[in-house]
Amino acid sequence: MRRIIIAFLIFGLAITLLGNEFINEPADSYFMDVKIGKSYTFDELLRIDATESIMVYNKANKSQEILDLNVSSVQITYVEAGRIDVYDSNKALIYSMPGDGSVILGTKSGVDGVISIGGIRYRGYVNLLKGNGAYNVINHINVEKYLNGVLPKEFPTSAPLESIKAQAVTARGFAYSNMNKHITEGFNLCDTVHCQVYAGYDAEHPNSNRAIEETKGMVVTYNGSIAETVYHSNSGGHTASSENVWRSPRPYLVGVSDPFSLNTNGTSWSFTMSKADISQRLIAQGVDVGIVKDMEVLATFPSGRVSNLRITGSTNQVEVTGASLRNILGTTQLRSTLFTIDSGLIKNDINLQVLGEGKTKIIYPSDNLSVMTNNGSLSIENKNVAIISANGITKVNTVTQENTDQITFNGKGYGHGVGMSQYGAMEMAKLGYTYDQILKFYYTGVDVTIINR
Ligand SMILES: [Zn+2]
Repeated sequence: MRRIIIAFLIFGLAITLLGNEFINEPADSYFMDVKIGKSYTFDELLRIDATESIMVYNKANKSQEILDLNVSSVQITYVEAGRIDVYDSNKALIYSMPGDGSVILGTKSGVDGVISIGGIRYRGYVNLLKGNGAYNVINHINVEKYLNGVLPKEFPTSAPLESIKAQAVTARGFAYSNMNKHITEGFNLCDTVHCQVYAGYDAEHPNSNRAIEETKGMVVTYNGSIAETVYHSNSGGHTASSENVWRSPRPYLVGVSDPFSLNTNGTSWSFTMSKADISQRLIAQGVDVGIVKDMEVLATFPSGRVSNLRITGSTNQVEVTGASLRNILGTTQLRSTLFTIDSGLIKNDINLQVLGEGKTKIIYPSDNLSVMTNNGSLSIENKNVAIISANGITKVNTVTQENTDQITFNGKGYGHGVGMSQYGAMEMAKLGYTYDQILKFYYTGVDVTIINR
C-alpha cells in the first residue's frame, strides 16, 4: 500500500515539474541586466537602501548567498582598478568585491526584494560595471519583473485589462528580441526610449502588474521566431505596411483596415504652420526652396498615408517623402503621414482645346505643361498659362490665391502606423475582444505563445 502511494506521489510530482517546465519555469528563470540612470565617475559614491538586510550574492547562482552585510544602507562605488567598494553609513569600508559582474547586491528577499538605488526603488539586484571612462549602474532583474516597471510608461493603466495585456505581450517580445542591443557594453537594455523606458518598482501599477502576470511568458511569434511587435498610438483607420515606413518588409506587419481606431478620441487632427516657418524648418534640414508657396501630395500608399509630396518655393521645387516631412516639421505636430494639405490656394482645372484634334484636354494645376517650339520643348510654370489666339493673348488662371501665409495639414491618427494601434486595442477590449485576438488582428498570421528559448 505504501509503495502505491509513493508511486502516485512521484507521478504527481513528474506532472507538476513538466507543467512548470513549459509554463512557469522559463518566464521565472530569465534574468536580464538593465542599465539604469546616469553614468557615474569612478569613486563617486552611490547610495543603496533597503528595508531589510543587504546581501552579497553570486550572480550565476543566486540561491548562493556570499555574505549578509547586516546593514540596510550602504554606499558603493566602482574603483577604476576593477573593484567595487562597499561602505557603511559611517563611511567605513565594510566589503570589497570583484568588478567583473560576477557578484551582485540584493536584499534578504533576493529575487522578490526591493532595493533603493540612488533614491529610486527597483526589484531584484544591483551591480556596477566599468563603462567608458565611468561606471554604469546595472539592475539585474527577472524579465517579468522588469516589465512591471515598463508597462505603465507605455500604456494607460486605466485602459481595459485585455488591451493592457496585449501591450504587455509586445513589451515582453521587445525585451527578448533586443537582449543583445547593449551586449558589447556588458548589459542587455538601457532604461531610456532608446530601448524601452523602464522606471523600476516606483512606476508599477496593480493593473499593469496583473496584465503581465496573466500573460506570463507570452510572446507574439511568426514562423516560430519572436515577431517585431512594433506599435503606435492611433492608426487613424488603416495601419501601415512596414516597408512603407522602414526599409524592410515583414509578412506580419502589413497594413490592415482598422475601424477600431476611427471615432476614438483624437483620431482627427489639424495642424497649421506659416509658410515662413516651414521655409525655415526646411532650410535647417538642408532643403532650400526659398519661401514656400505650395505643397502638393504626389502619391499615397494603400493605407492612404502620404508617400511623397512636392514643395514649391520661390527659388526651387523639391520632392520629399511624407515621413521626412514629418521629421522636419516635428512628429508631435505632424502627428502622422495620413494627411491632406491645404496650402491656401484654390486650384482651377482648365479646359484646353488642342488644335487639329478637336478634343478637349483637362489640364490640372499639378500637371507639367510644356510647349513645342522651333527650339524644342519648353516647360511652363502652370500658374501662368497664356494662350495666343487670333483674338490676342488670353491669360488662364489655374491658381487662385486665398490664404497664402500658411499651410494647414488635416490628418488622422498618431505615430508611424505600423503594427498595433494602442487606441484601437483599447476600443477592441471595450468591445469584448481578448488580448490574443487584438494581437492577431494587428499582426497578420502570428501565433501568441509561451516563450521557449
Ligand atoms: Zn538602449
